[in-house]
Amino acid sequence: MKILVIEDEIKLANAIRRALELQKYTVDVAYNGTNGLDLATGEKFDVIILDIMLPGTDGLEICRQVRREKIHTPILVLTAKGQVSDRVAGLDNGADDYLVKPFSFEELFARVRALTRRPPLTEATVLQVGDLTLDPVNFHVRRANKEIYLSTKEFAILEYLMRHKNNVISKEKIVEYVWNYEADVLPSTVEVHVKHLRDKIDRSFHKQLIHTVRGFGYEIRG
Ligand code: CA
Repeated sequence: MKILVIEDEIKLANAIRRALELQKYTVDVAYNGTNGLDLATGEKFDVIILDIMLPGTDGLEICRQVRREKIHTPILVLTAKGQVSDRVAGLDNGADDYLVKPFSFEELFARVRALTRRPPLTEATVLQVGDLTLDPVNFHVRRANKEIYLSTKEFAILEYLMRHKNNVISKEKIVEYVWNYEADVLPSTVEVHVKHLRDKIDRSFHKQLIHTVRGFGYEIRG
């Protein structure tokens, strides 16, 4: 498992590197955004740990560019305490999860483990709802033959909904399936991801596939 850490606080970056290396990960560190972006787009990693405030290219821009290059590596964003808007912006720009500084290494390990643990594939066939298809093996989503690019979390949510199409799925179930490593994910986090998912798969198409069941959850139907 290879991890890229992009963090300009040198002490913190090196401490994260040491901690992850003790967990047997291979770690590359970039101390500014420009090098970070070069590494993130030039080499293959299993997880990218990305600080938002960086000299050179900032973390949000790195997120955007990585996703624009169709790289689906899970991204864990590090944000300063209280900067809620940073977290939401990170998720908006294609990050999969965020961690608020200061954090414990135990928490960091848990997030990294969760991001590297792909949901078990119970079946390898392409899922379909209406004109939407999802290929769980090759990580492709298409609607009306148009390729759609999702973050890892968005993909996992969509896959879960599609495996249970025509059934209402609670936000708690989604949390359990997509964030199975921690108990304190709020339903509002699910809402943020589902909103982004909708922007991508529903917004520019004439028929809505994801339906909200107010105060409870979501249902996908064709
Ligand atoms: Ca920083």
